[in-house]
Amino acid sequence: MSSPGIIVFDLDGTLVDQLSAVRRWTDEFIVRHAADPALSPWITRELTARAPKDEAFARIAEKVPAAGHPSEMWQEYRTRMPELVELFTGTADALRGLRQAGWVLGIATNGMTDNQAGKIRRTGLDALVDGWVVSAEVGVRKPDPLLLTALAAQLGVPLHGWMVGDGLESDVEVGRRAGLRTAWVSAASGSADADLTVPDVAAFADAILRR
Ligand SMILES: [Mg+2]
Repeated sequence: MSSPGIIVFDLDGTLVDQLSAVRRWTDEFIVRHAADPALSPWITRELTARAPKDEAFARIAEKVPAAGHPSEMWQEYRTRMPELVELFTGTADALRGLRQAGWVLGIATNGMTDNQAGKIRRTGLDALVDGWVVSAEVGVRKPDPLLLTALAAQLGVPLHGWMVGDGLESDVEVGRRAGLRTAWVSAASGSADADLTVPDVAAFADAILRR
């Protein structure tokens, strides 16, 4: 059977519930360093903003000096986060269904390799997709389409199909630049930039498998 194509997924906020995991990490951090619990929402925002993590940890270290050096905090974070993330509900079944229909599945994620690959393995995504690329390893970040080119080359398939993610400027934009159809994962009612807007990956799979 010839494949209908490739579906490239973003990781954080698309396949895995990054926000809940960051909240759990922040709670642990506050307790460990006896920091002011009122800092919790600010720390969570810093760590989920689309900004370099080394800068975020530098700002956090300023407010919580007891936490030590920013680079050590970041290292601890990357080790702990894979243990805290979980797949969004329905994600595993959605990926199985798409694969059964012949789609080749991949993950393209911006971030550090230990953290991102750790999350992929820890959540069982390594068995549910055909491969993944991490920006730090490839040397380019979304929305640079070279990241997707690298993934397709690794999987040995043409770059033809869908890009699915929760980031308009990163995921939808990289899909558009790579010539893929795009699905925006969002609770919003839709974006003119994306071909499809869905609340989650389960809904995306339903839409694709019904076509
Ligand atoms: Mg994301």
